[in-house]
Amino acid sequence: MNETKTVVERFALGKPLFSVEFFPPRDDAAGERMLRAAQALQSYEPDFVSITYGAGGGTRATTLKYARMLKEQCGFEVMPHLTCVGHKEAELMDILQDFESAGFRNVMALRGDPPKGETSFQTVAGGFSHADELVRLIRRNLPSFGIGVAGYPEKHPESPDAGDDVQRLAHKVSCGADFVTTQLFFDNEFYFDFVRRCRQAGIEVPILPGLLPVLSLAQIRRFSSMCGAALPPELEKRLEEAGKDGVQEVGADWAYEQIKGLLDGGAPGFHLYALNQSKATTSILERLRDRG
Ligand SMILES: Cc1cc2nc3c(=O)[nH]c(=O)nc-3n(C[C@H](O)[C@H](O)[C@H](O)COP(=O)(O)OP(=O)(O)OC[C@H]3O[C@@H](n4cnc5c(N)ncnc54)[C@H](O)[C@@H]3O)c2cc1C
Repeated sequence: MNETKTVVERFALGKPLFSVEFFPPRDDAAGERMLRAAQALQSYEPDFVSITYGAGGGTRATTLKYARMLKEQCGFEVMPHLTCVGHKEAELMDILQDFESAGFRNVMALRGDPPKGETSFQTVAGGFSHADELVRLIRRNLPSFGIGVAGYPEKHPESPDAGDDVQRLAHKVSCGADFVTTQLFFDNEFYFDFVRRCRQAGIEVPILPGLLPVLSLAQIRRFSSMCGAALPPELEKRLEEAGKDGVQEVGADWAYEQIKGLLDGGAPGFHLYALNQSKATTSILERLRDRG
């Protein structure tokens, strides 16, 4: 495994890198399944893996628990996520210190989505309203940490327009972020256009495209409407025609073609939203390996 290099050092090598995202499972049985999925990826040597916080059931304890498991049992360079949801600054600092004590050297700094049942983000007293403040906190207190932030090729759903969104991202990066990982998208033109606009806005850090190999049509329709990622009619048609049993193959084929186009177009690598499953991800990685 590539265990001696941080995420930032890996970007600096200038070789395309790839990462895989997990989420903290709800119970021990799901934890076993996640671990098996992670182990199935070991031979492909991801440059790093990340594990979400807050979203999908992750809490301070579970994100740390499964981040440790991915590090200790799979030997991965792990980047835990952290969100501002419900935390005062001092609590965020405590969690960051837990991450540091557990040996993590990278963190994905996010504002986070409103908790289930709430429609808008609420800043707690003594807490943060946006991810830029969390980035500043990390950079000030843990200067050697690698910091990732989220970017939105099709703009964040709360942003008034794409221009405003990129200006906010430029500010967030200027607070000390080392790289951007994007929200999922299904049409590479959104990514290339986003990168162009980011560069014009003075963002110089690597922008890692995030891709989701579709696992279910109903799920992807839900995700797309939640995060504002357009589902191309051609992909939707193929998924419908494939039926339940064929959806994953169509999803993996689409993601593979996206990755080829992204790497050929100069993307610094790719990030896979694997949803704690390995079948589609390994099928993509196997084809990329064959392609060299
Ligand atoms: C790669 C990736 C990983 C993710 N992981 C998680 C996770 O682990 N847990 C989770 O809950 N969610 C996760 N999310 C979802 C994310 O939390 C949501 O998209 C959330 O709504 C915004 O988080 P952010 O960090 O982008 O927020 P921000 O950067 O704060 O942006 C949120 C909105 O506010 C605007 N904005 C930014 N800064 C300012 C400012 N200073 N003043 C005014 N407006 C501003 C932005 O343009 C945007 O519209 C992830 C998203 C991505 C792309």
